[in-house]
Amino acid sequence: MTGVIVLNTDNTALHTVSVQHAVKMLVRQVAIVEEARDGHQIGPYPWPLVLRLIRYVKTNFIYARTPAWSKRGVLRRDRHLCTYCSGTADTADHLLPQSRGGTNSWLNTVAACTRCNNVKANRTPSEAGMRLAWRPWVPTWREAMPTGRG
Ligand SMILES: [Zn+2]
Repeated sequence: MTGVIVLNTDNTALHTVSVQHAVKMLVRQVAIVEEARDGHQIGPYPWPLVLRLIRYVKTNFIYARTPAWSKRGVLRRDRHLCTYCSGTADTADHLLPQSRGGTNSWLNTVAACTRCNNVKANRTPSEAGMRLAWRPWVPTWREAMPTGRG
């Protein structure tokens, strides 16, 4: 069973809850569905993946508005697939290499296998003549967070 991410009204993530708990929140009308699983319903509701609270909840904690970058997050976002060869990715490749000022950021990193990463080495994809199967993007909470099987 996968967890449902609960967002505050300002898009910060508060915590995850069970699907059953999420449906109770929908029934009580304290939250709306922000992201749903395609083609799945629970009663009258879309199957929730991410909920947004209707009223702001004050917390003593500071949460980032978008998921913080991590190598694991890049692998999750890209479904553990190498963008260059579609093999199993086990590393995050920097489009602009770190040695040349590339940053650990969502838009500068893609999932890659060790072999492609080594072939590309200290070059950009175009310098190396390597094609990306997709452009990196800033993931949603759901795409980057370790819920369910992760
Ligand atoms: Zn590869």
